[in-house]
Amino acid sequence: MGKKKNTTPGEEHLVLPTHPSRLERPETEHEPTVDTHTHLLSTYNSYQATYKPGKHQTIWEFVRGMYHGRRVEAIVDVWCEAPVMKAQWKEIADSALTTEGREKDWGGIEYWFVMGVHPHEAKNYNDAIEKDILEAMKHARCVGWGEIGLDYHYDNSPRELQQEVFTRQLRHAIRLGKPLTIHTREAEEDTERILKAEVPKDHRIHIHCYTDSPEWAARMLEHFPNLFIGVTGVITYSSNLNTSAVVRQMVTPTPAVNAAVPESLRIVLETDAPFMIPGNLYTSLPEIKGRRLPLCHTAMLPWTAEFVARVANEAGGSWDVERVMKVSRENARKMYGI
Ligand SMILES: [Zn+2]
Repeated sequence: MGKKKNTTPGEEHLVLPTHPSRLERPETEHEPTVDTHTHLLSTYNSYQATYKPGKHQTIWEFVRGMYHGRRVEAIVDVWCEAPVMKAQWKEIADSALTTEGREKDWGGIEYWFVMGVHPHEAKNYNDAIEKDILEAMKHARCVGWGEIGLDYHYDNSPRELQQEVFTRQLRHAIRLGKPLTIHTREAEEDTERILKAEVPKDHRIHIHCYTDSPEWAARMLEHFPNLFIGVTGVITYSSNLNTSAVVRQMVTPTPAVNAAVPESLRIVLETDAPFMIPGNLYTSLPEIKGRRLPLCHTAMLPWTAEFVARVANEAGGSWDVERVMKVSRENARKMYGI
């Protein structure tokens, strides 16, 4: 009997080369990377599960190992489990409280987080969990409430309950003035109705990992002037044409869509790590010979930006990796104040 061939590339391949478009300039001149939505603990756990024992023994070692020298400036980590992972989130967030802590543990990366209960877990929501989230909202590194919303693709919690828990969290977030990270999937009508009913027009909203229709995006962008569309590696997948259509629509102003904001790319880049690797990354990794990496991480964002630039150029713009990174970075600041 033949031995089963191990097809997972070695962990050294997770440390990425510089994006080919950036080789001519020193790293200090690259636009910084800000990942506006990442699940750091799941990413680290998935790394640990694949490479046991991995080279990196803590979440901080992992971050420094993967992101060092890649101009990663900030990440927004997402805690959306129910019950709240109290022991874990606080230790991680506390380590980023001081400049010295961020230098020592995070290699200078700015760690931020949002917290909320994901629609999948709406059935587990209760007063105790809400109390824990309200406590986390006071933390100096907390920049928003999320991800919250509706998911009618998986229907892991009953729809009426999802709506109830979504509304309840929205009301708290608005009362506290916290930016919103929204998860919505195949629930356009109800998400729009609830957001428009509950959320003031000028509130900051990040529709994360956008995959819904361009028409819906246009309506939401028009109604909420501080709303941003989150773009992940999913934009590179042939199974998803919507996100590219949304990008083209943004950079092609038409009276019906967004004449008020001509050629404005209202996106923020995000990984939603650990699972959605941008497909075009593999052209930069010939040495792994067609095999697939087991997880994605923040240093992959320049490849997502490359794809966005290509799509935007199809609509007649003049975009490149740096310009997309720059706009996305500015939008991350407007969205989360980071
Ligand atoms: Zn997420």
